[in-house]
Amino acid sequence: MSITNFFEIDKNLLKLDEAALEKCRGQFENIEKTAEHNQLKVLSAFIKNGVSEADMSGSTGYGYGDKGRDVLERVMADCMGAEDALMRHNFVSGTHTLTVALFGLLRPGDKILCLTGRPYDTILGVFGIDGPSDGSLADFGIEYREVELKADGTPDIEAIKKALKAEHYKMAYIQRSRGYSLRPSLKIDDIKELCGAVREVSPDSIIMVDNCYGEFVETREPCEVGADIIAGSLIKNPGGGIAPTGGYIAGRRDLIEKCSYRLTCPGVGREVGASLGHSRELYMGLFSAPHVVGEALKSAVYASSLFELMGYGVTPRFNEKRGDIIQCITLGNRQALIDFCKGLQSGAPVDSFAVPEPWDMPGYSDQVIMAAGAFTLGSSIELSADAPLREPFAVWMQGGLNFHSARAGILLGANRVFSQKNTDKNK
Ligand SMILES: *Cc1c(COP(=O)(O)O)cnc(C)c1O
Repeated sequence: MSITNFFEIDKNLLKLDEAALEKCRGQFENIEKTAEHNQLKVLSAFIKNGVSEADMSGSTGYGYGDKGRDVLERVMADCMGAEDALMRHNFVSGTHTLTVALFGLLRPGDKILCLTGRPYDTILGVFGIDGPSDGSLADFGIEYREVELKADGTPDIEAIKKALKAEHYKMAYIQRSRGYSLRPSLKIDDIKELCGAVREVSPDSIIMVDNCYGEFVETREPCEVGADIIAGSLIKNPGGGIAPTGGYIAGRRDLIEKCSYRLTCPGVGREVGASLGHSRELYMGLFSAPHVVGEALKSAVYASSLFELMGYGVTPRFNEKRGDIIQCITLGNRQALIDFCKGLQSGAPVDSFAVPEPWDMPGYSDQVIMAAGAFTLGSSIELSADAPLREPFAVWMQGGLNFHSARAGILLGANRVFSQKNTDKNK
């Protein structure tokens, strides 16, 4: 195989690589079909909304009358199967985007119920879960509750219905991706079931979905199966690896309007916000996203297949249905975890020479190691991996702008783990 023309890989590992690829064929076909469907969905949204070259030019100052910005938001709404959307480089991260939506929709005295257990780490401070941090929703008198997941990591529909019957919640909150937990990600059918349960018991609760890492993984998005509003990051799936920063909110028009008053100012809303020179990157990124998400999914499926053949625990398995682009690999010990990250980093297009080391990251109880050699800082639609240094020494890996390079990166990570293991055996 051609990889040996450029990189040194253990011969025995190359055999596993071949076998792993062979096992992935069926999944790859499914991924291609989904990517094609989503690509046509995106293309027709561009055509329907009459995207023109002039829409890419951008505005300055207040950004009044920025047609390109407005058209982009209509295209995004259509791509997400929603009535309306906000999509801007002014959102600084996924967490900020979710925060704008939450503060835009909730008022003092409102209650929010999370249906999917403990949310993603960076959201805890927004809700004020571990004590009302300054400026959190709790600080503004908005009460947070959650329904624990069942032992198998799936939502507890009966407990959710019971909670919604007992009290009125302004919002029901769903996290689609597994984040950095071992629970399975939600599939669109799971989200549909959750929305149905909420509607049955509490029809006027707003259903919000944290859609991070989920966009374009399936052929439908949460708003197409009952969610009222969704939000996500543009340095993940829907930015296609081209958007340099930003986020989006999509959903019901009346709710999007409320969010726009929090994004800028009450009374002003979405009419302002200079797009500067970023419109073109946001259009191109969205256009590329279905294909790039397909490449990231192939990379995850391949890694799952390869590491399973190497004898490691993986979730999801290569042939399981996926709801996000994240792959978890349990490497079992500290050294293997560090080796994997170092190997992956050595195969990155940017900063391949950097050597990741575990460090005491603020806000985390254990040391964390990260591998990322990306064109956009922190971009996780590009091949990247993160892991806390604690039992069971699992690494969360995601992204890959194209399968060929991601396969090389994964194989270099595997090679480092593989050679170390065999050296230890021969000692
Ligand atoms: C990435 C992510 C977010 C947002 O994270 P940022 O780093 O702020 O963009 C929120 N929720 C989930 C589940 C995520 O995966």
